Amino acid sequence: MTKFKTLDDLGDLTGKVVLVRVDLNLPMDGVRVTDDTRVRAAAPTILELSGKGAKVLLLAHFGRPKGEKVSTMSVSMTLDAVQAVLGREVMFVPEITGDVVTQSLTILRSGDIALLENTRFWKGEEANDLELAKAIAANADLYVNDAFSAAHRAHASTEGLAHLLPAYAGRSMEAELKALEAALGNPQRPVAAVVGGAKVSSKLDVLTHLVTQVDHLIIGGGMANTFLAARGVNVGKSLCEHELAATCEQILAAADQAGCTVHLPYDVTVAKEFAANPASLRTCNVHEVAADEMILDIGPQATEALADVLKTCRTLVWNGPLGAFETAPFDAATVALARSAAALTKEGVLISVAGGGDTVAALNAAGVADDFTYISTAGGAFLEWMEGKELPGVVALTVPT
Ligand code: ADP
Ligand code: MG
Repeated sequence: MTKFKTLDDLGDLTGKVVLVRVDLNLPMDGVRVTDDTRVRAAAPTILELSGKGAKVLLLAHFGRPKGEKVSTMSVSMTLDAVQAVLGREVMFVPEITGDVVTQSLTILRSGDIALLENTRFWKGEEANDLELAKAIAANADLYVNDAFSAAHRAHASTEGLAHLLPAYAGRSMEAELKALEAALGNPQRPVAAVVGGAKVSSKLDVLTHLVTQVDHLIIGGGMANTFLAARGVNVGKSLCEHELAATCEQILAAADQAGCTVHLPYDVTVAKEFAANPASLRTCNVHEVAADEMILDIGPQATEALADVLKTCRTLVWNGPLGAFETAPFDAATVALARSAAALTKEGVLISVAGGGDTVAALNAAGVADDFTYISTAGGAFLEWMEGKELPGVVALTVPT
């Protein structure tokens, strides 16, 4: 188990300045924030530090300004949303280093919160420049990282600062690390992984890592088509990466060697055109797909068999939908298996962790997101963790044991 310091290790912070790296890279419709999930994730950490009496300086990136000051990418665009979620007034400071920050600190009282400018306005951020990190650290006493979703980047605000100030994991970082540890670090076995989505090529490293970690690998989505084709199945007009046949065979061989059972569907839902409830919709055995049909979801029998597999497991990690879930009824397998996982989790017999942009959308649409043990909204960082990579922002917080 990775060891890191948390807010539990902090007492009274009156008179202390704490830099908190948060994720405020919020979706916008041009002027307004359309989803404040990330602010709500960071709020407990910010309010707890404020409650301990610290002057809290929020650090975040917003968009990709690439080291230039781009006014439309000022992090102040998120200020209203931040204030609304926190229920507090937050001061905006248009710098991250130097006198402007120092002077702001003389105005801030104990427990007050300020939002510093977009860290990516400075080239040293993405270069993880030591001088920039030192200049940011000069105005503060402590560093808290609460942005797991940015932890796969070794930037000044996500990695460099952790070496310059006493460093702590915030509450949302802590929850994420605990959930991920429970799912793949030191899980209760048997462990099942569901990997779906469009393409094998985008998740090769995930598949390669998982076969050595889990007892059951459930492959769905477009990537199941590629595996089926590699096995000699005629997948018709399905989305399929035929050129990856040899790679699929290698993954299957590695799974075999590691004692990991790979589950491919034996029935599928197909159609001749990709549209909602098409006239050509039918379910068939994988060996009966016609040349002009597309596999758009795994079939009901396969889904039922997978639910039975989950019943034998104690831990589930899920990335990628099982079908083209945005279009009905090709969400059927994803919704059904998600409901099975949610029910087992509610019964207390399964630990279920899921992540990925489309996966989270699919689980929300299925109405089961709250019943999973943990849903990661971290995107790239979640996938890198599923690939077994060390995340620099997490490594930097780690205390030697
Ligand atoms: P995530 O964002 O959760 O990591 P991906 O981006 O890898 O997931 O994959 C999601 C996409 O895969 C969805 O847009 C979905 O429509 C598509 N998809 C899943 N199954 C199929 C299929 N059989 N044919 C075509 N597209 C599919
Ligand atoms: Mg996606």
